[in-house]
Amino acid sequence: MVLCSALTGTRATCSAGSLRGARVLVTGASTGIGEQLAYCYARLGAQVVITARRENVLQQVARRCAQLGAQKALYVTGDMATTSDPSRVVKFAVDELGGLDYLVLNHIGRYSFSPWSGDVHHVRGLMEVNFLSYVQLASAALPSLEKSKGSIVVVSSLLGEFPTPFTAPYTATKFAVNGFFCTLQHELAMRSSDVSLTISILGLVDTESAMEKVSGRTRVVPYPAGEAALHVVRAGSLRQKESFYPWYTHLVCLVRDWCPFFRDVIIRNSYY
Ligand code: NDP
Repeated sequence: MVLCSALTGTRATCSAGSLRGARVLVTGASTGIGEQLAYCYARLGAQVVITARRENVLQQVARRCAQLGAQKALYVTGDMATTSDPSRVVKFAVDELGGLDYLVLNHIGRYSFSPWSGDVHHVRGLMEVNFLSYVQLASAALPSLEKSKGSIVVVSSLLGEFPTPFTAPYTATKFAVNGFFCTLQHELAMRSSDVSLTISILGLVDTESAMEKVSGRTRVVPYPAGEAALHVVRAGSLRQKESFYPWYTHLVCLVRDWCPFFRDVIIRNSYY
């Protein structure tokens, strides 16, 4: 199957099965990469449920998904800082779509790009949104995914593999996400589960929220959100264990421990 039509101006191919009619839940889909993920799935004719907190924005994204070709485009509001909303959101998707083929975990809570201030309360809150809700969503969706031989797709970050300054709370949550879901990958494989789990490691992407934080503070070049989303959709549909976007993120992970002194000098000179 060719995924090159999923994004105007972006060409990428894959040989995965068709996503037409696939039942997909995308979290954090009101803006940024999540919004672009929703549009990719929509263009490929999937049935999409999107979620985030802001209903008026979700409404617009769902309408656009319908225009782009989604077989179904529904939204459900949910606050992933609460303990009840993750399972309620999954139940909504499973009930409305009659099951689930893809759970795409993408949302993140707000954080600032600054030296750690000592605010433990913020770290705890961010852990709830960025990590614990992912665990709850996956746990609620697994029975349906087992039935459909479906997939969990985790949108993660290079910062979950490779710490840099000014993002301590966020980095901690992404390390937790990577650790938890890598472990789950082993366990799914050891019990011969048909559920695939993809962890997509992304570098800097030009979403509004990311650019607001780092603009003028890093030499790292951002990559386009639409292309990042297409990469994630493709990796999930190919049932890849892990994927890296853009190219340099894989290289960074491979060489990070070769020369720690120079690595740290380079990192500290990449931010100001
Ligand atoms: P955005 O900040 O653009 O979007 C975050 C999304 O999460 C929004 O839809 C927001 O919607 C939703 N959200 C925020 N708080 C909550 C909450 N409490 N409950 C439910 N939904 C919530 O993020 P990006 O698109 O930049 O990032 C998306 C993913 O990509 C993240 O997992 C991030 O770690 C990863 N990534 C991004 C990179 C980048 O440079 N942009 C780099 C590496 C990884 P609403 O406010 O309506 O709730």
